[in-house]
Amino acid sequence: MGEKKKKIIKTIKIDVDNCNGCRACEVICSAFHAAPKYSSNNPARARIRVIRQPLADIYVPVYAGDYAPAECAGREKYTIDGKEYDECAFCKASCPSRDEFKEPDSDLPLKCDMCEGEDEPLCVKWCLNDALILEEREEEVEEEEEQEELDIGLEALAKKYGMQKVMDSIARMSMSKKG
Ligand code: SF4
Ligand code: SF4
Repeated sequence: MGEKKKKIIKTIKIDVDNCNGCRACEVICSAFHAAPKYSSNNPARARIRVIRQPLADIYVPVYAGDYAPAECAGREKYTIDGKEYDECAFCKASCPSRDEFKEPDSDLPLKCDMCEGEDEPLCVKWCLNDALILEEREEEVEEEEEQEELDIGLEALAKKYGMQKVMDSIARMSMSKKG
């Protein structure tokens, strides 16, 4: 059994009804993660994307979750309050079937890091409509479990993209954190 340690779990609660599709969250997220920091903004690089169907008054902010090596076989369609949402509208995965949550130059998966190093996630701060609300809770986790998760994730990435591409991407990410 590994040692237990306390971990703060951060969650962004999304209130779809409050989102007006302004895309400020995409702008600040991509700027924060640019290298050097704030040197550019490009929503295609954002780790939050607003799935938009303006004619149907649909705006769904979704932040990037885990990398999925394969498309899922079954998908859902939701109708909520009379609005019909596309399949995948609520999905956070960086997956082969869509362009969202991939670094446009390298195609490597993007994942929300909760704006590591900042007091508050910047998309939450910049959302003036309270569509994004930060929630925090404390949990005990096994140190070994964390390492195992990391190993599985890295192995999957190396298999798909090759170790060199993964290493290059990590180097680029660490440069952007220094910037
Ligand atoms: S900043 Fe808030 S209101 Fe604007 S698109 Fe993002 S989630 Fe929606
Ligand atoms: S918390 Fe930070 S990294 Fe995550 S989606 Fe929001 S701005 Fe991007």
